Amino acid sequence: MSKQLNILFVSSEVEPFAKTGGLADVSSALPKAIKDLGHEIRIMMPRYRFISERRFRLHDIIRLKDIPIPVGDAVHAGNVKSSFIMNLKEKVQVYFLDNETYFGRDGVYQNPANKKDYKDNDERFIFFARGVLETLKRLGWQPDVIHCNDWQTGLIPVMMKTIYKDDPFFRNIKTVFTIHNMAYQGAFPPESFKKSGLPEEIFHHNGVEAYGKFNFLKTALSYADTITTVSEKYAREICESPEYGAGLEGLLMARKKDLRGLLNGIDIVTWDPASDNFIFRKYDAKSVEAKSDNKKALLKRFGMEFDPARPVIGAITRLVDQKGFDLVLEVLEDIVKLDAQFVMLASGDKETEAKFERLHKKHPKHITLVFGFDEELAHMIEAGSDMFLMPSRYEPCGLNQMYSMRYGTVPIVRATGGLDDTVVDHHAGGKGTGFKFEHYDGGELLKAVQRAIAAFQKPDEWKKLMRNGMAQDFSWEHSAKKYIALYRDILKP
Ligand code: ADP
Repeated sequence: MSKQLNILFVSSEVEPFAKTGGLADVSSALPKAIKDLGHEIRIMMPRYRFISERRFRLHDIIRLKDIPIPVGDAVHAGNVKSSFIMNLKEKVQVYFLDNETYFGRDGVYQNPANKKDYKDNDERFIFFARGVLETLKRLGWQPDVIHCNDWQTGLIPVMMKTIYKDDPFFRNIKTVFTIHNMAYQGAFPPESFKKSGLPEEIFHHNGVEAYGKFNFLKTALSYADTITTVSEKYAREICESPEYGAGLEGLLMARKKDLRGLLNGIDIVTWDPASDNFIFRKYDAKSVEAKSDNKKALLKRFGMEFDPARPVIGAITRLVDQKGFDLVLEVLEDIVKLDAQFVMLASGDKETEAKFERLHKKHPKHITLVFGFDEELAHMIEAGSDMFLMPSRYEPCGLNQMYSMRYGTVPIVRATGGLDDTVVDHHAGGKGTGFKFEHYDGGELLKAVQRAIAAFQKPDEWKKLMRNGMAQDFSWEHSAKKYIALYRDILKP
């Protein structure tokens, strides 16, 4: 039996405590899957005020009260609370670093009232990085690996290699840094650097500075022992072009041998059409006919007419530039002309919402829009649509295309990042699970939709596509094993 590993997983959002995007899902599902493989993994995150003490039964770890944590010239007191998340077999322990000044707020990164980033996000995550390391020392728990995620945890590796360089507690601990999205870098003015307590000599282009700023993501990429991102294709894309690498492609290229793409999994319990309580009628690969009742129920909810021969195209998304909905706006009327119905659940950008709204007014029988965040409706759309649209400009991994395949809903995606790695084009013959287009172009998107509609009109061909998708295994176990192999690799003497 090989040695059990001890891992600390650090993230600024973890489901069900705090979530702004896919990071929260990964930060709970991956540690659970690793624990299931028999390793000791614990999570550390900030204790935002909205994380309810009662609901989650947070308790103080008494011995750790008031750890002094320096930020700039001040010293702030951190204390640590603890709770658990449940997995199939065991619990995963979660530590919350608590400090009223920095985390006693209603938002994660932004003030929910004005949707503006908090002005002291630099200090908040300097405090967090330093606090994580100080907490470990007080706990006396020495992991083999600290696994950091996104820029909010980006200073942990560099602090270990500078401030704590001579501290025997950290000497044998390795760091892994996972990039969930290159677009969010945590770039702050140079003055922020002084608050970090890091040695002055590393504020240069080969250290923590990028384009004149103190860049937390770059810092992580420079100092982590190894780097991962959430799909193989995205790992290549971010090295190869400024568009994907967001200005850090040179550094990524230089560290290419330390960069790996490990695909995210999905939560196969929450997203399972055979046991999904949100949907009108449950089904599996053997009873896909029942999907049509879900389609009927979805259309009825929005007063749309049901016709089995008319395809319903679903979309669930944040309306941000990354997701490619400017292409959809370009060709939606052409899609309507093909007599397809479009149901979209989206949150974000008011301007884009208004543009979609105008198209809905013109084609109310074919276009339904719901703006907001709605977990239940997301499940209903997955179950009730025939096709699912993800025309992303870039997509580190993407989850909805995997949910779609599990629900027998055939994805139409741009061949980028995780979308390209998880969807097999119908052209590939008998193994196809969806439709892909290469170039970021409205015409190409429309062609992919036309191909999908042509296949939809041949029931046997369509059923095969659905079944192929439903047979895929997107569980976390696969990826968790790959992470364990990676941890073992970097721990080799
Ligand atoms: P990202 O993290 O870039 O938003 P992912 O595809 O990795 O994209 O994850 C998005 C997650 O958020 C999915 O679980 C998706 O179903 C969910 N989601 C996105 N927008 C909405 C919405 N408006 N309502 C409900 N769920 C949403």
